[in-house]
Amino acid sequence: MNEGRLTFQKCASCGTIRYPVGPLCPNCHKFETEWVTSSGRGTVFSFTVVRHQTHPAFPVPYTILVVEMDEGPRVVARLEAPDGTPARIGMAVRVDFEDAGGQMLPVFRTLSA
Ligand SMILES: [Zn+2]
Repeated sequence: MNEGRLTFQKCASCGTIRYPVGPLCPNCHKFETEWVTSSGRGTVFSFTVVRHQTHPAFPVPYTILVVEMDEGPRVVARLEAPDGTPARIGMAVRVDFEDAGGQMLPVFRTLSA
C-alpha cells in the first residue's frame, strides 16, 4: 500500500481473487498466485459514522465505509469527502491514499456522477 495503489492476490490458475491474502486458493486449491492492481473503484456496501474520539490523529466525526470493490472484495477505509457529502449505500467511490507519517493509508473519495 505504500506505493499508493491497491492490489489483490489472484489465483494464477482459476482467477479467483483471494482476499484476505492466503497461501491456497479457496476455489481450486492451487498455490499459484499473482498480484493485480485494483481499478480502485467500488460502491458503498455499508458504513458507520464514528462520533467517539479514540486518538487525536482522528478527529470526529468521520465515516468508515465498507466498500465492495469492482473486483469483488469488500475493503474497509475512511470516507474523505471535503465537500461534506454524506455516505449512502450504493454510492460510487474510488480509493486514494494519504500519507500518515510515512505510512500510506487508504481512504475513499466520492465519484462525481
Ligand atoms: Zn484458483
